[in-house]
Amino acid sequence: MLAAADLPTPLTAVDDPEFAAAGAELWLKRDDLAHPTVPGNKWRKLAPNLELAVAAGARGLLTYGGAYSTHVRAVAAAAKGLGLASVGVIRGAELAGRPRNWSLARAERDGMVLEFVERSAYREAAAGRERRAGYHVLPEGGSNGPAVRGAAVVAAELAGQLPDFGARDVLCCAVGTGGTLAGVAAGLPAGARALGVAVLRGEGYLEAEVAALQRAGYGRESANWRLAHGWHGGGYGRVPPELERFARWFEAAYGVPLERRYVAKALWAAYGLLRAGELAGRRVTVLVTGLPDPPS
Ligand SMILES: *Cc1c(COP(=O)(O)O)cnc(C)c1O
Repeated sequence: MLAAADLPTPLTAVDDPEFAAAGAELWLKRDDLAHPTVPGNKWRKLAPNLELAVAAGARGLLTYGGAYSTHVRAVAAAAKGLGLASVGVIRGAELAGRPRNWSLARAERDGMVLEFVERSAYREAAAGRERRAGYHVLPEGGSNGPAVRGAAVVAAELAGQLPDFGARDVLCCAVGTGGTLAGVAAGLPAGARALGVAVLRGEGYLEAEVAALQRAGYGRESANWRLAHGWHGGGYGRVPPELERFARWFEAAYGVPLERRYVAKALWAAYGLLRAGELAGRRVTVLVTGLPDPPS
């Protein structure tokens, strides 16, 4: 049995003097606490896909990712819970004969069969969305139309948690593939806005991805979101000293552990944009999309 998610996820106020001085508020939407085995926003994006896979009588889930992909781990955990098979196509043929890192070891423990492919072949495999009999295929990162609709539930929950959720509100989230931003923006009520924080260098490209994902999920785009590109800290997985200092300060001040590749960057951007005067008077909710990695 796949454990039920604990919804709605908690919404907590951060009593921050800088936000208060700007007439603004800071809230955290704790999606890192959504599910006991399927991590954070990967659960949001998987939930509708799992329903489709089960309804179609799929015997398994197949997906793609790098050696530390949270999405790959999430698919393995979900498949295990549902009693489905799972296959992970992993970038890097050279990894096949090496000891597994903690992330791949976890996926294997959950019953996932790993297939390692050359980096050159991986691109094509992941883009081709191969068909494999009996398998529900999920793209790299898990972002597709159903995933976008799953992420939109976050906005619906917030509407029930915050009085007058609307024109004063900004929902801020980290952006990797863009599925989460596409969904939360699509789910917002009139007047509220979504702010996506790019965690990798992707100006232009990411905007096109988010728009395409909204069309895949809803058949249309919404105009209530934008991307901030100044907070990736040098690229995916890069954590410059300034960001590390900020994250440690926040953790010590407010007791919330911050995952560094995504969540810390989103929060760093929220403070940065507040200091730049862009969030004055706003109620800012930062979506905590996942938990920190275990120490390795
Ligand atoms: C995967 C991930 C994201 C990125 O979500 P996208 O929908 O790919 O943009 C954000 N935060 C965390 C913690 C993640 O693991």
